[in-house]
Amino acid sequence: MEDKKKPKHFRKDIIKKGLLVGGGLLVANELLTVEPLINAAEANTTTSVKPVPNSLSQEDNIIRMQRELHQALEKPIDQVHWVMVIDQKKCVACDGCTVSCISENALPPGVVYRPVIKEEVGTYPNVRRKFTPRPCMHCENPACVKVCPIAATYKREDGIVSIDYDKCLGCRYCITACPYGARSFDWGEHHTDNTPEVMPYEMEPGYEYGEARTRSKGVSPVGNARKCHFCVHRLQNGMLPSCVTTCIGRATYFGDLNNSKGLVASLVGSPRATRLLEKLGTKPSVYYLT
Ligand code: SF4
Ligand code: SF4
Repeated sequence: MEDKKKPKHFRKDIIKKGLLVGGGLLVANELLTVEPLINAAEANTTTSVKPVPNSLSQEDNIIRMQRELHQALEKPIDQVHWVMVIDQKKCVACDGCTVSCISENALPPGVVYRPVIKEEVGTYPNVRRKFTPRPCMHCENPACVKVCPIAATYKREDGIVSIDYDKCLGCRYCITACPYGARSFDWGEHHTDNTPEVMPYEMEPGYEYGEARTRSKGVSPVGNARKCHFCVHRLQNGMLPSCVTTCIGRATYFGDLNNSKGLVASLVGSPRATRLLEKLGTKPSVYYLT
């Protein structure tokens, strides 16, 4: 066989060259730990397998958040405080979170729960772009709840500010009161209005707050205030919010702030952590790493 004619170092050279070309020096250095195994096979002896390099054995943040979400769901609801953390240095302004939220919640025209605000900051030539994804802040002290005349918007024990679509009158006081502009009104429009036919996919139900609702004239949520709800229907089913799992920049984190050893608690403790309009005393449950 041809291989037997090759010197022993031939295969090792080929492996080394392939790794240097395909994986870069750092990765190749890690993977060249297979060399003792090749030697052992050639010598027909046994050797201990080297541990997997740290860079490969660390738990992925999505897996960690998913695991910590399940831990939080085991606790009584009043012992959980859901928070979102957004790393602005990782956000690439791809709008993936905006689109996934629209899709997840079957949002109509004019209703966007998580826009990504794009700004230029600084003075030429020292300028940069700044990206601020802006879901509902789920404030501990929410201005919207105070102005609702019939308590249709309320704060749950786990901190999620919710809207009871069956109660909401559509007076829009809350839309005006929210200092973050996080609420919008459902005017009953469809993306395919003024085309030959409203497409059937626009008549598919949404599942916000765990209730299947098909939008049609005069039926909630048409005529209601609407906003981000931290994907509570997904949380109830053990899943992270849609914008977290689809974030292209891996910039969005979610979890229980009351878990002192959890990922979000360590991020909130960072000197980079800040909240929007802190001076208002609303105490948002969304933190930004700047
Ligand atoms: S629009 Fe609905 S939630 Fe907002 S203040 Fe009016 S009744 Fe309350
Ligand atoms: S948590 Fe859910 S509802 Fe809120 S912005 Fe993210 S995807 Fe939209």
